[in-house]
Amino acid sequence: MISVEEARDRVLSSVGVLDEEESPLLGSLGRVLAEDVSSPFDVPPRDNSAMDGYAVRSADTRGASRKRPRLLRVVGMAVAGAVSGCRVEPGTAVRIMTGAPLPEGADSIVRFEDTDETLRSGPATEIGILKKVEPGWDVRYAGEDIRKDSLVLARGLWISPAEVGVLASLGRPTVKVVRRPRVAILATGDELVDIGQPLPGGKIYNSNSYSLAALVSYYGGIPEVLGIARDSEDSLVARLREGLAADMLLTSGGVSLGDYDVVRDVLAKQGKISFWTVRLKPGKPLAFGMIKGVTKTGVGREIPHLGLPGNPVSSMVTFELFVRPAILKMMGRKDLARPLIEAVIEDEVVNSDGRRIFARVVVSERGGQYFARLTGLQGSGVLTSMALANGLAIIPEDSQGVAAGDRVQVMMLDWSNNKGLGFSVD
Ligand code: AMP
Ligand code: MG
Repeated sequence: MISVEEARDRVLSSVGVLDEEESPLLGSLGRVLAEDVSSPFDVPPRDNSAMDGYAVRSADTRGASRKRPRLLRVVGMAVAGAVSGCRVEPGTAVRIMTGAPLPEGADSIVRFEDTDETLRSGPATEIGILKKVEPGWDVRYAGEDIRKDSLVLARGLWISPAEVGVLASLGRPTVKVVRRPRVAILATGDELVDIGQPLPGGKIYNSNSYSLAALVSYYGGIPEVLGIARDSEDSLVARLREGLAADMLLTSGGVSLGDYDVVRDVLAKQGKISFWTVRLKPGKPLAFGMIKGVTKTGVGREIPHLGLPGNPVSSMVTFELFVRPAILKMMGRKDLARPLIEAVIEDEVVNSDGRRIFARVVVSERGGQYFARLTGLQGSGVLTSMALANGLAIIPEDSQGVAAGDRVQVMMLDWSNNKGLGFSVD
């Protein structure tokens, strides 16, 4: 048996960063930038007003107050989206809207609430200024967000919604990013029936293909669901072929010691096997190897194959530990590890056979301290234990287990509080 770390290192060393492609802007979300982006212009492009009000020369507001308003002659109007032709000469003001370019001659804005338009003395349009302003007040300067020619976003950066917005502010319809990995997913088992079909006695629905495909999409890959292979070499080989153009192949089931566990046998013939068992619970029976794939030109190449265990919780947990970091690495991410927190465990967990246990827990926070409670039955077939969990509590392989009240490390899967049992708000 090998350790979780060793298994992860072997999987990670089998994958590299994928090639780059030009993506439409929205398609870049969640991917890694593959170019340095600098700005061809200043953002904002011109000095403009941060408020609705009047563009003035600040010197003209000297001494102005609510008691002693100063009257300025209004010579025009500046709206967002157009460059006004007006000029603010001494003693004048231009009515201005938020975002409108600052008219020539003006150096500051007096907000509407600091003006009074009922004070005009004659027929000419005049505005009463009720407050003294300093140069630059409520002016947004050209280039204060982004300077022309400056590096705005560096290659290697992970694109979040804010970066999408920044790229849009530079007018970019497309951007160069690392390609998403295509991950083929094949379920194995004579007992499996696909969803949407009637369920004859003795059969179960194929849930793994869907939980795994959902995980692949969740972490940014493109899942290719290949359906169900039966527990025969022929069926498996036929289905496997469909997946060999992908960047990675996942199978579920067929890797334990049962009579019908053919994945091991097929892999042994078709590729190179790296390991079979990991010191881990759930998820001990795990196969990993390189399998001969195909390229566009039909020439064989090798793609990594992970033979995940069939039990639904085991396949999800092993995905989290080994497949997720591999997908992130292929996508160019550097931050492959999940955050770990320390929590007080509220239930006993016995470790009877020296494996590292990843117990499904709900983490909540009370009085500045994290608590982790088991999500119920921990059998590797109890998929709802995974659905309820927002973390995996780690019970070390060299321990006999933990007692309620002990401190444990928890690998957080999710920080949300939408599961009913999640973070308490009291
Ligand atoms: P195996 O590793 O093939 O022996 O499968 C272990 C357990 O996981 C068995 O109880 C299978 O019925 C179950 N199992 C295998 N594949 C799936 C699947 N795709 N969906 C749901 N359960 C599965
Ligand atoms: Mg099976």
